[in-house]
Parts: sequence; structure tokens; C-alpha cells
Amino acid sequence: MTNIQISDLKVAVLAGGVGGAKLVLGFDRILEAGNLSVIVNTGDDFRHFGLQICPDLDSVCYALAGLANKTYGWGQENESWQVANALADLGAPTWFQLGDRDLATHLERTRLLESGKSLQDATQILCNRFGILSQVYPMTDEPAATMIETKQGSLLTFQDYLVRLSAEPEVARVVLAEAERAELLPASKKAIEEADLVVLAPSNPWVSIDPILTLKDIRKILTSKTVYAVSPIIQGKALKGPAAKMFAELGIEPSSQAVLAHYRDFLDVFVYDLSDDQLSDQEVETVQLQTIMKTDEDKIALAEAIANHFLKYRGRL
Ligand code: GDP
Repeated sequence: MTNIQISDLKVAVLAGGVGGAKLVLGFDRILEAGNLSVIVNTGDDFRHFGLQICPDLDSVCYALAGLANKTYGWGQENESWQVANALADLGAPTWFQLGDRDLATHLERTRLLESGKSLQDATQILCNRFGILSQVYPMTDEPAATMIETKQGSLLTFQDYLVRLSAEPEVARVVLAEAERAELLPASKKAIEEADLVVLAPSNPWVSIDPILTLKDIRKILTSKTVYAVSPIIQGKALKGPAAKMFAELGIEPSSQAVLAHYRDFLDVFVYDLSDDQLSDQEVETVQLQTIMKTDEDKIALAEAIANHFLKYRGRL
């Protein structure tokens, strides 16, 4: 393993949508084609207008294909909204924004699923059509819906909570009952087992990474791997979305330290932002890097910095 180049590394990234897709793009650009595997949260998936919508898979795939909307982190760039406007004219629900090109993805995915393909196969077919060379896997082919139990006592589907209700209800508990019964895809399991390095992207720990970590056997596999995690919390805040609000509602102070503690069981190295207060840990190595990814150059630089750190870290083992 001497003189190994960064591009030769095999990396598996566990990812949600917005934060996940950013780091995934960085690794895709620095590794030899095919050396990156991405295991994507499907707890946010839902059916809408009869279509199977997989928000995190789409954010990751659009990023890798160079199609992602640069402002929102979801949907496509140069999108048109003819169907959404026509739906509004009809008085149909408009709380979940569906661009025309995005709709084509959901239509084709739904057609593939209804023709008997698995979600893994449908994802592979879409990736091939988008020209994506990295391996993108849904975390499971089985139902694994994330539900949100609110402090008012209601049980909401994830998109109802996040999009329709703008993440306003206070969260009492994240319910991952379906994920507990679901299996990690054999292909993702193999990708994690064969990876030199496993990275938890800076995704929401509660609703993007925990659903993946809840699948049978995955924690056991991770304890035998070198695992890095990147904090999505910077100076006590999330850059986007309800992660910090969720920490507070679940009774935990939102901080990088709390993210580290959440993953401590299997974590080797914790990456947190240069602007954050320094932290140290008895069991987990900590490293401060520039983790705010505004441009593609930022995404590539962070992936490169993690890979370089890993080469040195492994040299010390
Ligand atoms: P979702 O499934 O679409 O909500 O996306 P993720 O869970 O993957 O991403 C949401 C998390 O990404 C939030 O907690 C953000 O703080 C984090 N995030 C977004 N952009 C960045 C970034 O550039 N750097 C870091 N460190 N975190 C980010």
C-alpha cells in the first residue's frame, strides 16, 4: 500500500441530499472512475401524484451528472415549471415543487419500478442515462419510510413534516421502524466492505444518516472499517435545513461535539469546520478543515483534504 495515489482509493460515502451531494461530487471528481460508491438515504422517499419520488437519490444523481440546481441543492438547474403552474391552475396540491425536467425523472423511475425493476436497478439505469460513473445505491430496496412524531402527538411522513409544514412542528422522536426491519443492499454492503475509507457526509444525522445506520448489520460492518464523519453543524448551526433545530428539540445542544458523540461507537476521525471551536476527544481523532462547500472547487478541496488525511492516518496505523 505504499505510494498509493488518492485517485486509487476506494471510498464509500453514506449520504443524504443537500450536504451529502456536495461532498459526493468532490469525491467523484478526485477518484478513478468507479472507485466511489454512494449509499443514499431513502427514508425521505414518498409517492406523490402516483410517482415514486426519491429526493436524496435525485440530489446525489443530479450533482454527479452536473445537472443540480446550484441555488437550492435540490432539483435541476435551468428548470421550467409548466406542469407545476398548470397544477396550480387546477387547484392541485403545490406544496412539493416539481420542475418539468425533475418530473421526467420521477415518471421514468416509476415506469421502471412498475415494469418490475428494483429501486437499485432503476437507480442504475437512471445513472447510466445521466452518464454517472460512480456507483449510486439506494440504502435499501425495501420500504424504509422515516416518520416524525411531533410534540403535539401526531405522526407525520417526512415530506409532510419537512416540506408541507416547513419543519415547523417540534420533533419528539424520529421513528425508523421500517428501516429497522430493512436490509442494506448486498451491493452496498460489498461496497462498504471493500472500501479503503468510509465517509459519513455532512448530512442531517437524525433523518439522513440515522436511517442508513439503522439497517440491519451496518454498524457491525462499520466498526471494522476506517470511518470518517464530516460535521453538518458549524458554530451550533446547520447551513441548511432543520438539523440544529432537531438537535435542540431532542434535548441535545446543537454542536459539532454532539455530532461526534452521535457517531462515536464506530468513528475513527471526525472532521469539523475551521471556524468552529476546537474540540478534542479521547477515542476519536479530530481534524479541522474548510468544510463549507459553496463552489465545486470547495467540494473537491474538502474531498482531497479528507483523502490526504486518510493516507497519513493509515500510514500511522
Ligand atoms: P437533505 O436530505 O436534503 O436534508 O440533505 P442532507 O441531510 O444531506 O443535508 C443537510 C445538512 O447538510 C444540513 O445539516 C446542513 O448543515 C449540511 N450542509 C449543507 N451544506 C453544507 C456544507 O457546505 N458544509 C457542511 N459541513 N455541511 C453542509
